[in-house]
Parts: sequence; C-alpha cells; structure tokens
Amino acid sequence: MTKKIVIIGTGYSGIVLAHELLLHSNHQVQIFGLEENDGGLAYSSRDIHHLLNVSSEKMGFSNSEHGGFYEWVRTNIGTVPQFSPRYHFKQYLIDCFLKLIDQYPERLQIIRKSVHNLLRTKEGFWVVTKDNHKFFSTVCILATGNPPFTKIGLPGNDSIIENIYDPLAMNRIKSQDRVLIAGTSLSMVDALLTLHHTKHQGPIIAFSRRGLIPHTHDTLHTPALIDWSDLIGKSWIRIFERFKKEIKNHPDKDWRSILDSIRPYTQRLWYGLSPAQKMSFLRHLRPFWDTHRHRIAEEAHQTVSAMVESTQLKIKAARLIKIQGKDPCSVLLKPRGITAIHEYRVDWIINCLGPDIHACLNRPLMQNLIKNGLATASPTGIGLLTDPLGRVSENLYAVGPVCRASLWECIAVPDIRIQAEQIVKTINI
Ligand SMILES: Cc1cc2nc3c(=O)[nH]c(=O)nc-3n(C[C@H](O)[C@H](O)[C@H](O)COP(=O)(O)OP(=O)(O)OC[C@H]3O[C@@H](n4cnc5c(N)ncnc54)[C@H](O)[C@@H]3O)c2cc1C
Repeated sequence: MTKKIVIIGTGYSGIVLAHELLLHSNHQVQIFGLEENDGGLAYSSRDIHHLLNVSSEKMGFSNSEHGGFYEWVRTNIGTVPQFSPRYHFKQYLIDCFLKLIDQYPERLQIIRKSVHNLLRTKEGFWVVTKDNHKFFSTVCILATGNPPFTKIGLPGNDSIIENIYDPLAMNRIKSQDRVLIAGTSLSMVDALLTLHHTKHQGPIIAFSRRGLIPHTHDTLHTPALIDWSDLIGKSWIRIFERFKKEIKNHPDKDWRSILDSIRPYTQRLWYGLSPAQKMSFLRHLRPFWDTHRHRIAEEAHQTVSAMVESTQLKIKAARLIKIQGKDPCSVLLKPRGITAIHEYRVDWIINCLGPDIHACLNRPLMQNLIKNGLATASPTGIGLLTDPLGRVSENLYAVGPVCRASLWECIAVPDIRIQAEQIVKTINI
C-alpha cells in the first residue's frame, strides 16, 4: 500500500531517508526544511580547511552506493584526501538532493516550511507548519538533527564571535589580536584551523572544564574483535573497567582499536543503562568519551600540536566566571583544582562550545510533541525516548542526533545511514 511519508529536516538524515524511501518503496515523500539549512548544520562551514572527521570512503550517501562521496570527490574535485573538507560533503549532499528531485518529480515534494506541531488523527497525522498550514501524512519521521550551538549570550558585546562559521565575523580578527576560545573540542579545532590558515600571529588561549582536546585518528589500526554483548544492561563503570582490561589484554593493539570494537554495541549498551546511569555518564565520562571517540584528521591534529609547541596556543582546564567590558574584554577564569581566579585581557572571545544537547527539547516542535502525548522526553533531558530502531510512537520515527537520548551513537554518517535503512525496511512491511 502506498503511504504518505513526511520527513522533517533536510540535513544528511532527511536526505538519506528520502533517498532510501524513493529507491526502495512506492511511497509518496514530502520533506520539510528551510533551503538555507539544506545539508544541515554540520556541513555549513565554507572554510575549506574544516575537515570531515570520518574518512571520505565512509561518508557515502547510502549503503547501496557505498563510497558514493569518494567517487563524487574524484569526479568533481580530483584527488581524494582521506579526510575531505566538510564543504565538499555539503556540495555532494546538495547534488544528491537535486538528483532525487529530478528523478522523482511525481513522488518527492519539498516544502520550504518549518514544522511546529503534529496532530494525530485516526489515519495518520496533520503536520502543522509555523505559518499554520496543515499537510496530511500516514507516517512521520523526525530528522531535525543537531540542537543549536550553546550561546555565550552577552548581546551587544561585539568582541564575542558566537558563530565561527560566519566568515565575516572571523575576518574581523587582526593578525596580532589576542584570542580566547571557549571550548576545546571539535569546534575549537575548526577555529584554530581558520586562524592558522589566515596566518594569525597573536596569542590564543582555549579553555574548557577539563581542557581535553580531541585525539587523532590512527590510520593504521583496525577495530579489535571483542564481544561486548555480556555488558548490555550493566553500569557504565563496569563497561569502562572492561575497556581498561581489554587494553591490557591486547598489548599489540592501540586503544583506538579497543574503543572502535565497542561501536557495533554502543547503542545497545547505552539503551541498557538506567536514566541515573546515563546522567552519571554525561556528568563524569562524556568529556573523555567525546575526545577519544570523535577523533580528528592527523593533518588537523598536527596543526593544533604545532600551535601548542610554538606556545602560541595555551589550553587550560578552567571554568568561566565572568566577561567584563569589550574591545578588549577582561575574562575571569577559575582554573580546575585551585581557588584563585585568573584574569585575561583579550581582543576576541570565540564561542566553540558546540551544540547544546540539553537544548534539544526546547524547540517548539519537540515541546508540542511532548505536550500532545506523541513523544516522551528522556529523563536525561537530552532528547526524546525511542525504541532501539528510533520509533517514538506509532508511525512516528526519529533518525540521527535527535535520537541521542535513547541510542547515543547515532550522530555520525555511518550510523545514520544504517538507521535510515532499517526504518525504511520497517515502514515497508
Ligand atoms: C560541526 C560538526 C561537524 C560534524 N562532522 C561530522 C563528520 O565529519 N562526519 C560525520 O559522520 N558526522 C559529523 N557530524 C555529525 C553530524 O551530526 C551528522 O553527520 C549529520 O550531519 C546529522 O544530520 P541531521 O540531518 O540529522 O542533522 P542536521 O544536520 O542538524 O540537520 C537537521 C535539519 O533539520 C531541519 N529542521 C530542524 N527542525 C525543523 C523543523 N521543525 N521543521 C523543519 N526543518 C527542521 C534543520 O533546519 C536542518 O536542515 C558533525 C556534527 C557537527 C555539529
């Protein structure tokens, strides 16, 4: 039976879902999103030095076209680097989207509107847009993706750059200016790459609570073959202890091999944790998980290391106390483990705090779904509850980072691709 499927979001998750549905079913597909966000937040940077953190051959568009991005780069750019610029991936996604629009004019409709509510009916849903238009669907899929970036939030202070992907804002930094970066994770790496390639000479301080920075990929390692299934339902501390034990048991292997061996089990391990365990993980282990699990290209790591070695860049474990004044700003930081407060005078503060996972549920659509009883908020506050597939409630699914609360490891392209394929199979039954 032909169904009317609505996908909300035109980032990677929405586009890959549309592709799977059009290729493997006869359903009618409507996809909602705003044109400026096509391809999604992750690939919005136009800076060619901001690289993917997954290798080019794993970033393909679907399982059936594995390696599609690799071929696209070879045809359109030339040599394929191991980690391509994210901007090229955005161009590839848009190309794929445009091809789908061309190939399936009868079955694919793009609606340039933001969705604010879903109302359940006997036959399906009314999809309600921000401007109050209603569209009928039998099945809805949320592909609303990454939450917005955390804001430093001092409106009127022109010395704060909230969006590092805004070239006009970054271009205001002069070569000798003193820069402070809030956050030491993947966005900080992007900011440093931009500063490095614009030949920035001035001192840079980057801080986060623990001062941890992302590790590099090791291109030589392969995941170890370890069965983690006996730990499903156990606490994260047990899993972490086993991880340390496996490192000792495999002296011939790099820690990355052991960590990557967990990947096929991560969703089930996370699903098996109690809400209290999940919150404890978020509080204590998450910074370590993020920097070890979400690794960066060797090339990017070398640039950051060289900046540290030359003493241009100082990374600090500290907490922000206060920002005073502007042009220059006085920033008060409390270093981890000591009571004294240190003052830094800087010309610019760059916000690299990354997406605010706790803001995911603040969006109007999420609030309305919860209010209408169509979805349940996770007690962790980082998203909606879903089943292991991504089902939120009857005929309502979620794909990608929006499932983080229930699946955790569902934010990178290889995981999203598998999840999209499984959801399409389920819808087709
Ligand atoms: C800076 C950054 C770099 C990353 N780099 C990589 C990488 O190199 N490799 C990798 O595999 N993963 C990477 N990721 C992970 C990334 O989350 C996924 O690869 C992927 O982009 C997620 O896609 P998505 O479509 O689910 O979400 P998003 O890209 O966030 O897209 C969501 C879409 O939904 C739309 N939307 C939201 N709400 C509504 C609404 N109510 N109505 C209509 N439309 C709506 C948005 O406008 C947007 O178009 C990165 C993430 C970030 C933040």
